[in-house]
Amino acid sequence: MTVSYEAALQRYEPVFGLETHVELGTRTKLFCGCPAAFGAEPNSQVCPVCLGLPGSLPVLNRVAVEYTIRIGLALHCTIARWCRFARKNYFYPDMPKNFQISQYDEPLCTDGWLDVPAGGTTVRVGIERVHLEEDTGKSLHVGGATGRIHGADYSLIDYNRAGVPLVEIVTKPVPGTGMQAPGVARAYVTELRDLLRSLGVSDVRMEEGSLRCDVNTSLSARGSGAWGTRTETKNVNSLRSVERAVRSEIERQAAVLDAGRRVIQETRHFHEDTGVTTPGRSKEEAQDYRYFPEPDLVPLAPSPEWVAEIRAALPEPPAARRARLQAEWSLSDPEFEALRNAGAVDAVEQTVRAGASPADARKWWLGELARRANDAGVELSSLPVTPADVARLAELVAAGTLSDRLAREVIDGVLGGEGSPDEVVAARNLAVVSDEGALAAAVDEAIAASPDVAARVRDGKVAAAGVLVGAVMRATRGRADAARVRDLILQRLTGA
Ligand SMILES: [Zn+2]
Repeated sequence: MTVSYEAALQRYEPVFGLETHVELGTRTKLFCGCPAAFGAEPNSQVCPVCLGLPGSLPVLNRVAVEYTIRIGLALHCTIARWCRFARKNYFYPDMPKNFQISQYDEPLCTDGWLDVPAGGTTVRVGIERVHLEEDTGKSLHVGGATGRIHGADYSLIDYNRAGVPLVEIVTKPVPGTGMQAPGVARAYVTELRDLLRSLGVSDVRMEEGSLRCDVNTSLSARGSGAWGTRTETKNVNSLRSVERAVRSEIERQAAVLDAGRRVIQETRHFHEDTGVTTPGRSKEEAQDYRYFPEPDLVPLAPSPEWVAEIRAALPEPPAARRARLQAEWSLSDPEFEALRNAGAVDAVEQTVRAGASPADARKWWLGELARRANDAGVELSSLPVTPADVARLAELVAAGTLSDRLAREVIDGVLGGEGSPDEVVAARNLAVVSDEGALAAAVDEAIAASPDVAARVRDGKVAAAGVLVGAVMRATRGRADAARVRDLILQRLTGA
């Protein structure tokens, strides 16, 4: 039995919550000096500490603590004066120690909030806690159809990620968003990602797993006042998937409740291809992990002076920055939203700083470059073109050296690794022919080559001049200004 989304919302009130894991962008891991960089040869960034070999001892990374406090302060949390790490005990092949050093009942940051712009209003999402822990390694299941362990022939393990500092940000349950729940959940992750990026603590690349979300969803019967049983959908790894996972769970749980059954508290997997969730393991209780204070680390007690220093150095919050830029660039709400959705705000800001007008910067990033990023299936920020390149391109167009069409050819060259815009213009000989003598000669040639067309233009059939303009554009390989060519032709033939 299935229930439509609209029908589900008539009878049930959704509540969602999010647990977001963020890999910090520190140079080294949380408890050892191994590099924390992504993408290296498997098992090339490991040592006795992060492999959990007997006798090795962890040493806490100060920068990771500073980043966590920065996140906590930006989320308006209270920073603990004294807290401890805890051992979370479980066995899994990608965790070499058979326990994870995490924080349990004494998190570093607690009780904050994040204001999330959603659907024309602002939803204040409560933050339960922000804590610091180590990431696990990565399993690669080979031979199965789905990449999951079921049906795989064998599994490979890469421990490079084991011990990379990971911050977990847990929201309080978010009730009262009704129909908008999936969109608000997505907007929260979007806002959080912007905030983390502005803090400089992570590259927040969802596609590389440096930002990963678990989505909790529950339904309660409207007006019942009681909260329903929640499910936890694991590793939802794109903004779109966050929205789809909440929506899918609302529909599924409504069908379960309508049939008079009860929702089981469990972990579920989200499937990108079908947009639905399927059951995983039933949810462990905290006692299953046998948490106890980590005996190999001293308690963590950040001094108030240090916390005050970190607070004083916090950057402008993203919401304030967005409001400022929108006003500076004179953009409407939808226009600014389009820039934000395209991930182009930073690029446009830097292009304006490099000398382009806001209108030009917006035109190139949101138009030609967004289209190419989309075609290549990469983020706009990953295109091999700098804001300075785009500013120079806009300058060349404004000066009449390039037409828009030629500018697009220059973009081809820059993206193809042929160098700066000026280098591409020179190497491909792309500048507009502005030399009046050369242009006049090309016009004369075109007229001489088509005497019949020229005669019709002389007789007043001005539209026929288009044929001659086309001939000149071909002769100059598109490098002439078509409007200027047309003027020259009409001057020659009609004296106009
Ligand atoms: Zn190590």
